[in-house]
Amino acid sequence: MNVLILGAGGREHALGWKLKQSKRCKKLFFAPGNGGTAALGTNVDLKIEPVDTKNVDAIDYFCRHNDIGLIVIGPEDPLCHGLADRLAAPGRHIFGPTADGARLEGDKAYAKDLMKGALIPTADSKTFTNFEMAKTYVEARETPVVVKATGLAKGKGAIVCSTNEEAVEALERCMVHKEFGEEGTTVLVEERLVGQEVSILALVDGRNLFLLDPSQDHKQAHEGDTGPNTGGMGVYCPTPLITEELLTQIQTEVLVPAVDAMRRDGIDFKGVLYAGLMLTAGGPKTLEFNTRFGDPETQPLMMRLKGDLMHAMLATATGKLDEVDLSWDQGVCCCVVMASGGYPGDYEKGKPITGIEDAESDPDVTVFHAGTKLTRENALVTDGGRVLGVCALGDTLKEAQTKANTACDKIKFEGAQFRRDIGFRVM
Ligand code: ATP
Repeated sequence: MNVLILGAGGREHALGWKLKQSKRCKKLFFAPGNGGTAALGTNVDLKIEPVDTKNVDAIDYFCRHNDIGLIVIGPEDPLCHGLADRLAAPGRHIFGPTADGARLEGDKAYAKDLMKGALIPTADSKTFTNFEMAKTYVEARETPVVVKATGLAKGKGAIVCSTNEEAVEALERCMVHKEFGEEGTTVLVEERLVGQEVSILALVDGRNLFLLDPSQDHKQAHEGDTGPNTGGMGVYCPTPLITEELLTQIQTEVLVPAVDAMRRDGIDFKGVLYAGLMLTAGGPKTLEFNTRFGDPETQPLMMRLKGDLMHAMLATATGKLDEVDLSWDQGVCCCVVMASGGYPGDYEKGKPITGIEDAESDPDVTVFHAGTKLTRENALVTDGGRVLGVCALGDTLKEAQTKANTACDKIKFEGAQFRRDIGFRVM
């Protein structure tokens, strides 16, 4: 079967890398892909945003003429805007939920209502559409809050506040200055939780769940989890913070109730359900749901996954997850993100990248591309904020981290920055 992967990040490169290992996968296409995916399959010049008639028709035409049997939709925006719904066609399998399911990620107020209705543990919160009412509410609070724009804001829509003044400022940014667009003018004011954060992902076929190994992401730009939030500077998997017992608790208290609640609402959720959780003194609480593979969580998951990803994706799309049997490498994988100088602020593109082959001379190291592209002369250059996800397997987290850092030292591009401390919270 031929496969089309939509997206351009490290997540899409890693998914393609794993799918390519399946006997079921014949031709592999990426749209738009990146400099790394070009070596795995064929990059196609198709636009996945906006999800409008012109772009959808072009993807549909490509799929019909290239006998695409499986479409994998990587990023959240096109899912929330209904790309899976619009590409549905007989004989074509789509990995990724329809817009009604993706709403769990794209509309935080809806997600909160669903959590409350299904008694899923989460932070207490209140939703506001009126600035003055929200301001009065936060000014009277005695404990810190988080202000969240309810729509998608590329990871920047949650403002963690330490004081009431900061909370009022955050409300002004969302509701008065409309920094996150019209969608951000509805805000959630949430109790600020304290604890370690973990990412729990599961394949969901509408009814059955298959849990993937737990991981811990590092969102802040600088070592020691300091500096501004980013799309993710590194991740390791599995995390010892999640015991078998805790994973079962999260499955029964968070993931299963969410899928059941959606089904009661008539939503046949098929794809990845990803719970971002905080492990508080009062137990795990849900910070957010995502409805796609995480980036960079996917990279270590694919490195450690044993079994046929293509079979698992097809089973997810067709309601047959109970037939799937996947297992995991017993080691630990550490993924260190190499980013452009200045990221998550302004950065330059087009910097030549060298040393990847040298880094991959260690058989335990794989480098997934994110913001890279090939020039007309076939030179690899930077093309985004997060450039590479350098992944290493080891028997222990320390060993995996050391190998990943050593590999990063071999890769050069002007302004490159990365964190050497991925995994520090459990070391
Ligand atoms: P966007 O919608 O802009 O993509 P997001 O989906 O990343 O944002 P969240 O995951 O809800 O937004 O929050 C981002 C980060 O903010 C979390 O990873 C966590 O570190 C912090 N955060 C969110 N909610 C809380 C909370 N209630 N208490 C403490 N920290 C929180």
